[in-house]
Formats: sequence, structure tokens, C-alpha cells
Amino acid sequence: MCDVVPDCDDSFSDVGRVHVQARDFVQLHTCPEHGRMAMGALLLLTGELVDNAAQHGQPPITVRLSCLVTELLLTVGDAGDALPTLLESTAGLGLRIVAQNSRDWGTTPSARGKEVWCRIPTGMVTATVPAPRADTALRVFPRVRPSG
Ligand SMILES: [Zn+2]
Repeated sequence: MCDVVPDCDDSFSDVGRVHVQARDFVQLHTCPEHGRMAMGALLLLTGELVDNAAQHGQPPITVRLSCLVTELLLTVGDAGDALPTLLESTAGLGLRIVAQNSRDWGTTPSARGKEVWCRIPTGMVTATVPAPRADTALRVFPRVRPSG
């Protein structure tokens, strides 16, 4: 888990403005340490998922963003209970874009409707890098002065 930013979420009731509001929201709350390289995919997928929720679900539309260091977890929920699938004619294109630009995605029934989530790679790796040994950490080389 990330120790730079906490998970954050917000709820949007105006279906006509949710595309812009949700993208503004994730841009403002993306982890500055780990999420920068994922910003393009995050904005694209946020737009696709909230558009799907606006067209096929029921408001309010919720957006939750979590930084997991190596990936961002984006979850978009709405009050409709019909789970979207890749086979739906109009929702299918948006979900195909989500599938192609995320590490994984899925749908989950929730207490108040459904959630669609996706995991977006950040490009970060978590392998621990060994600290440099004390005797080799700082080596000062004498400056070579030009002669003459
Ligand atoms: Zn982070």
C-alpha cells in the first residue's frame, strides 16, 4: 500500500457533468509519487467507466481511487444493478478500452448497485534495493587539474 496518499472517493449526481468532474477528481487525487506515469491511462479509463455508468447505470456515480504503488485501483460505482459485459453493444466498446489499457478489470455487485474496477500499472517496481555499503557509499575522486 502507498504511504504517500490515502484512498479517496467522491460521488457525482449530475450525469451530464460526471465525465469532466470525475476526470478532474482523479487528476487532483492521483498519487504524485507513484501515479504520474499512469495519468494518461487513468484519465482515459475514468472517462470510459463513468460514461458507461452514466449511460447504462443509475446516479449517483461514485469514483474511488487507491494507489497500490505498482498500480492504481480505480473503482466506479453506480446505483444500477445490471452488470456490464463486453458483449453489450454500446457498453462493450468502452469496456474493451478498459480491458486493453488496464492490468485487470472486473465488476462486482455492491450494496447500492454495482462497481466496475480496473487496475492500471504505474510503472513502479517494489523490489527493495539494497542500501549501499558504508565504505563504498561515498568515494571522492581527486580533481584532475589541467597542466600548464
Ligand atoms: Zn502512491
